[in-house]
This record gives sequence, structure tokens and C-alpha cells, in this order.
Amino acid sequence: MTKRSIPQPIDLGDRVERERVLNILRVLKDWPLEKRDISPLLRKYHTATGTYAKSQLLGAYRQLVEENVIKSNESIEYQLRGRPVRTISGVAPVAVLTESYPCPGECIFCPNQKDAPKSYLDGEPGVLRAIQYGYDPYAQTASRIQSLQATGHSVDKIELLVLGGTWSSYPEEYQEHFLLRCFDAMNEEPSSTLAEALRRNRTAPHRNVGLVIETRPDAITPAEVLRLREQGVTKVQLGVQSLDDQILELNRRGHTVAQTHRAIRLLRRAGFKIVAHWMPNLYGATPGSDLLDFARLWDDPAMRPDELKIYPTALLEGTELYTLWQEGKYQPYAEEDLIELVTQCKLLIQPYCRANRIMRDIPANYIVSGSKKSNLRQIVQQRMEKAGLACRCIRCREIRGHARKQSIERVQLETLHYQTEGTQEYFLQYLTPEKQLAGFLRLSLPTAPRQELPIPEIQMAAMIREVHVYGPAQGLGEQGQGGQHHGLGTRLLSRAAEIAQAAGFDELAVIAAVGTWHYYQERGFKQGELYPIRQL
Ligand code: SF4
Ligand SMILES: [Zn+2]
Repeated sequence: MTKRSIPQPIDLGDRVERERVLNILRVLKDWPLEKRDISPLLRKYHTATGTYAKSQLLGAYRQLVEENVIKSNESIEYQLRGRPVRTISGVAPVAVLTESYPCPGECIFCPNQKDAPKSYLDGEPGVLRAIQYGYDPYAQTASRIQSLQATGHSVDKIELLVLGGTWSSYPEEYQEHFLLRCFDAMNEEPSSTLAEALRRNRTAPHRNVGLVIETRPDAITPAEVLRLREQGVTKVQLGVQSLDDQILELNRRGHTVAQTHRAIRLLRRAGFKIVAHWMPNLYGATPGSDLLDFARLWDDPAMRPDELKIYPTALLEGTELYTLWQEGKYQPYAEEDLIELVTQCKLLIQPYCRANRIMRDIPANYIVSGSKKSNLRQIVQQRMEKAGLACRCIRCREIRGHARKQSIERVQLETLHYQTEGTQEYFLQYLTPEKQLAGFLRLSLPTAPRQELPIPEIQMAAMIREVHVYGPAQGLGEQGQGGQHHGLGTRLLSRAAEIAQAAGFDELAVIAAVGTWHYYQERGFKQGELYPIRQL
């Protein structure tokens, strides 16, 4: 890794420097938020040694606020944050990796490196960071929070992503310990049990507003669903990979499509958000069969995921797939075919789903043959734009940096519904006049009692699976220019309650991360065993 030198603080005792900084801050105050690039401005005020770094200016700004020379200003803070896009959806993401542990799977494309969890590579950026901290959950969480904070991000709302192969295959003690230490870091004080740490997080400095794990479809049983909820999990990344039993078998995934259907049904009925991972170019697939497979994600009511990651199969040395390639039995798609396939796929994604990623973060030097384009998403995007096409997924419609008061005041509520196996789903979305998404809510009405789940308190409750309002992450309760805290969340909740009541439901539950407990309490929800529940 190359080390970047840390920029020195600006000397505000120097009259010229001080005047220069004040000038920049004055301009930044009115700099349009959607014009994210401030480098021309920084170049204009260049110093003898070059332009100022954002972090230098942020430090100077903080000092001047502290000295009461200037007032704190949200627009300035937003512009000076390192990579504003990181917390643009209102929440600071913190990804941590579990240490390497044998996975029961034998997938022929999966790398198995000594220093990285199965399916990960020791050269991936996230893995490098985890190795640096010896996979210690506390150190990984604390350092990530610290570095987000240092670059100006608000860190009182944290989405914790636990990565590293198959969560469910780790021993339960390891899982508990791992999560306990992550929560200790968010709580900034230790607890003796996970349950205690989860309780403590309700009033902690860094509240957990989402907890994500990744696992295999065959690991999801009713008992596992219960355990995940007890651990505070709110979202599950599921390795679906293909919806064709023959392809699953050829690639030795070790599970069937029926098992994927069951996992999704159980998770969705318990309120979890589901991120499906799907892989084109597996052994035995063709671009044509992949497109048909992708269509099943939306046509089949047993699927219909909330979020999606498209991970084209990467050909890596040391895998069985590599041997097949050497024997001439496997061939990665030509780049052009892959681009065309992904473009076609994007057109099928439904508006209730968010396509989080297209292509994995694999360093190009690990890929033996096939596309090495890490910017596949942009290439596809450009191609679609040229052809006058647009992806309708959540990510492509998010309001992002444009969440200004004026647009938020003119939003309109639109409701989509769709059927899944075991639920009727309502996707309530607030759209600006420009059709950008300012916030949404997922309401899930069970079509029959949830007898298959060992969770009595939600047997026949309507379930809110997600509430999301966009805008840069702000402090809890802070009123800013962004989309958050303008009451959109409350309005979405009221509308969901009306819909549930009209459909004959007496109770409304929500799968809430532990740190959002007060938010729901203030809106009439009482804490049940595992879910806040409101009587209708
Ligand atoms: S289930 Fe995932 S981690 Fe396990 S072998 Fe398959 S791809 Fe690798
Ligand atoms: Zn999209």
C-alpha cells in the first residue's frame, strides 16, 4: 500500500492564510450542493505549496467556529466532507470482516486464501484493512468510525456490515463475541453480554441503525431467523447466484433454488431486508441463459429481492473453475457481451429494488481472464444514457446531494404494490417533481399467520421492513437542509398504519435496529421482545 502524507494544519496565525481561508469558506457557504466538485474553487485560492486539502480546510473551519469567528454552517461542512457520497443516504456505513473460517460450501469459483475469509482475497481493500487490525472487531469498528469522523462525516447513525463468507457457519460463541465487540466500539463502553450491549446502544454515541450479515440460502431455517433477530440483524445478504438448479449443481453451490425460495420467504416474513447476490457467467451459463435467469428474479413472486448485487464470475487462480478453464471447458464472456448482458439486466430491475453493486471489488491482477473493468457500472450507465434508457432502481433515483428544502416540500407520495410468496408488499415512495426519490417505506402484509416462525409476537402483525429518508447524514434530531428530519419518515409511518388498518390488521411491527428504538417509541411503538409494535 502506498502511504499518503497527512496534510499539515493551516496556520491561521498567518494573516494572509487566514484571509484566504475565510474567503474560501464564504464562497462555500453558498456553493450549490449539487455541484459537488470544489476543486476549481480550491485551485483559485491555491497556496504556494499547492491547493488546500479538504481536511485542512475542515480543520481550519472547526477552529474558526470554536473561536467564534464564524458560525457553524451545514453547507460548508457538507462540501468539506471527504467523499460526501459515503454518507449521502443519511447513514455512515462501517464494514467489518470476520476472520477466516471454513465454509461448508464447495463452490468451484470460490477462492480460498490463507489470510482472508473464504470467498475474499487478501488484496481487496476491505480485507487489507481487516488484516491491519488482526480481524479484531472492536479495532475495526472503532478505527472506521474515527476515520469517518476525521473526514467530517456524521457518525451518530451507523450501519454495520459484517462481511466474510457465511455468517451462519461460524460458531455461535464467535458470532456473539464478534458482535459484542462491534457494539462495545459503537457504545464507547464495554458490556458483558450481547443483549446488554444491544440495550445500551439505544442511547449510545454511535447508534446502530442497521445490521447486515451475509449467508447462504440453505443456512436459513426458522431457528436461524430467530437467532438473527436476537442478534439485532436487520438485513441479510444472500448468495442466490443462480435460479437454475442445473447451474447451481454444476458450480457445486450445494443448495437448490427451492432452498433459496424458502430462505427468502422466511426472511421476508420476519421483516428482514434481503440483498440478493446474483452471478452471471457461471460454469454452464450463456449470456442468453443468464438473461432468462435474471428475469426470474422479478417474475417469480418467491424472489423479488429488496436489494441486488450483480457479481460477474471472476476467474481466479487456484479455483476449480480455473482448472476447467485450463482444460478449455470454461470461458469468461467477452467484455462486450458482459456489458450488453448487464445493460439488458438493468432494464429488468424493478423500482422497489436497489442495485447496490455491479462488479466486485476484486483487484484486476487477481483476475486471470475476462473483464477486469471495475467501472462496469459507469460503462453500462453511459451506454444506457446514449440509448435514451434509464435504470429504475432505487439507487439510480435517490435524491443524493440535491435534498434541498424546496424539493422536499413538493414531494408526492406514490405507492407500488406487488405480491410475494407469503406477503403482499407495499412500496411507499416520496418523489420530487423531478421524479427523484426523497424517501420510501416497505410495508409487508402477511397473507397468512406466520406459523412457521418461532416468533409469537409477530404472528399476524403488519410489518414495516424499511424506512429510508435521504439526505446527508445529520446528527440525531438536527434540523438541516437535507431530506432527513423533515417529517417524511413520520408521514410514511402514518400512511403505512392507515394501509395496514384498512387491510384489517390490529398491529404494526417494525424490524428496527437497536439504535432506532427511541425514534419508534416517540411514534407510538412499544417494545416487544424483538420488534417495536404499535397497536392500530
Ligand atoms: S458459499 Fe460462499 S464462501 Fe462458501 S464456498 Fe461458496 S462462495 Fe465460497
Ligand atoms: Zn439502477
